Amino acid sequence: ELEAVGVSAWFGKRKVLQRVSLTMPPGSVTALIGPSGCGKSTFLRILNRMHELVASASLAGEVLLDGVDVYEPGGRITETRRRIGMVFQKPNPFPAMSIADNVTAGLKLTGAKASRDEKHHLIEQCLTKAGLWKEVRDRLKQPGGALSGGQQQRLCIARSLAVRPDVLLMDEPCSALDPTSTRRIEETIAELRDEVTIVIVTHNMQQAARVSQQCAFFLAEDGTPGQIVEAGPTRDIFDDPVDPRTADYVNGRF
Ligand code: ATP
Ligand code: MG
Repeated sequence: ELEAVGVSAWFGKRKVLQRVSLTMPPGSVTALIGPSGCGKSTFLRILNRMHELVASASLAGEVLLDGVDVYEPGGRITETRRRIGMVFQKPNPFPAMSIADNVTAGLKLTGAKASRDEKHHLIEQCLTKAGLWKEVRDRLKQPGGALSGGQQQRLCIARSLAVRPDVLLMDEPCSALDPTSTRRIEETIAELRDEVTIVIVTHNMQQAARVSQQCAFFLAEDGTPGQIVEAGPTRDIFDDPVDPRTADYVNGRF
């Protein structure tokens, strides 16, 4: 289980998130929704310590992975990022590296040792889970950059899965993709959910309704930092929201 407890965040002096608390239970997909600039990507990056790459960023609150604070002094950043993988809006495979090597690229970072056979098995397994195996089984030595955008995104998902993460964070993974590729990724998400906790940022309300069991609505009003207005079961957020601003947002009224 992944849990954010009272997370606030600043870039320099500017506060961009205010006391965000959210539990992301295993076996489920959590969708983060809300207008541009309300802090969804920042929150996602905080969950796996990616925001530490920005020198001006600072943080208050806790991120607990199975009850252990990932920001605890002495906590290992590579282990956190192994356990909490990330897929971005723009597919980013290593373009010159072969499809097969892309899948296993993360193993080097984690220091995991794998034999040739084990690697081969892992490549097939992860590409299958990402819904890409059938399309690439005969071209594993071709460069990752030779794939279509939707295939590249599924390759990135396969690469994330190879290090056996507990959580997969996805920041608008389909917004650069055509409808068919989007459907493929949504199918993949549905199949992965039993084994990986998934958190997805999306601007597509139909997508949030289709793929998630839980939804959190972020909002930053009039220069105030981003906050969660409302979070709960996806059906409630769409059909019976408590806050009128949630209803307005999910119905496209702002
Ligand atoms: P979008 O839907 O457009 O992707 P978002 O909800 O993901 O928006 P964030 O990217 O998290 O929003 O940005 C939240 C706020 O933090 C914005 O005001 C943004 O300008 C600011 N911000 C994000 N990254 C940085 C950074 N590296 N340095 C300074 N400010 C930043
Ligand atoms: Mg964003």
